[in-house]
Amino acid sequence: MVSVRSQGGRPAVVLDRTAFYPEGGGQPADRGLLGGVPVVDVQERDGEVLHVLAGAPPAGRVLGEVDPVRRRDHVQQHHGQHLLSAVFERVAGASTLSFHLGEEVSTIDLDKGPEALGPERLRAVEAAANELVYRDLPVTVREFSEAELARLPLRKEPARGCRVVVVSEGPLSEAFDPAEVVDASPCGGTHPPRTGAVGAIAVLRAQRWGEGTRVEFACGGRVVAALSEALRNLREAAAALRCAPAELSAAVSRAVEESAVRRKEFERLFAAAAQAEADRLSGSSGLVRAVLAPPVAGAAAWARAVAQALAARGRVALLGAVEEGRAHLAFARPRGPGPHLGERLRAAVALLGGKGGGSADFAQGSGPDAARVEEALREAEKALAP
Ligand SMILES: [Zn+2]
Repeated sequence: MVSVRSQGGRPAVVLDRTAFYPEGGGQPADRGLLGGVPVVDVQERDGEVLHVLAGAPPAGRVLGEVDPVRRRDHVQQHHGQHLLSAVFERVAGASTLSFHLGEEVSTIDLDKGPEALGPERLRAVEAAANELVYRDLPVTVREFSEAELARLPLRKEPARGCRVVVVSEGPLSEAFDPAEVVDASPCGGTHPPRTGAVGAIAVLRAQRWGEGTRVEFACGGRVVAALSEALRNLREAAAALRCAPAELSAAVSRAVEESAVRRKEFERLFAAAAQAEADRLSGSSGLVRAVLAPPVAGAAAWARAVAQALAARGRVALLGAVEEGRAHLAFARPRGPGPHLGERLRAAVALLGGKGGGSADFAQGSGPDAARVEEALREAEKALAP
């Protein structure tokens, strides 16, 4: 151990050498143990690698253990990204602008819009990237001399240093032939010795991202996890719709259609019932003042439909309906000259402690003081008296 610093209130150890990868280049930091103490973060500051510890730092010579499962996951996502970026460049002429390896989702941002990256092209890119995985090509990660760099078909300019990750058709010889190089990208991240370690690459989704496209993808173990989660969702949805998972899309279409037909049917019956209620109420003469008992949920819609049906019969209607402790009012009259019902309704709902309004011939509103609904309607009727 070289020294101990502080990072976010925790001890951060600097070593003379380390296998821990510090966060950077779109890739999260490693975790693990340092002398038995959990490493909760690894950051690079001023050329030093800080190992942030969960507890008091051990003394003297320390043994570091990188969490192998987390490291493998990062290697799979990161190298999968290299392969995907190489294929996007070759197949779609789309360059990678940035890369992010998330805890759940990883993304590549490309400089081409989604119109250039339709579903068929994405499937072609995915297939070509997986081909590179299945062929289990050698991956060389080392520093290259200026002369070598000049011969490498680099996918992007080196940002710092001359460490390059090269995927080649065969083992990369000293005097390599540039034609053997499948992909060469300057990078300081963690990579496997062969492409096969990526396991599999799945392109999950592509969406517009500024001028370009953000592509979500998963590699290796995350493909299996994503598939298992997708299957669980399908099974649950299929169980809810009482069908086999394979019949899900047909069952959903059918359910949506049925629901639309039923909604239309319900609206027709609701309107017919409101007409019948208006017929019943228009039996007496003069203004119709009543607190209604809606036949189904939806007191506001019911009061509105009945009030409008009464107005269509040439009547002035002052209606109320109570639902779940809230009073709903709807006032309506035939069009033409007459009192301003919007103003009357505002005064009436104020008695109920609520709000509402409308035009001269139709208005609606509601308030929480449902016990005063009769009183509010009586007051509104008094105000309309000539
Ligand atoms: Zn990389």
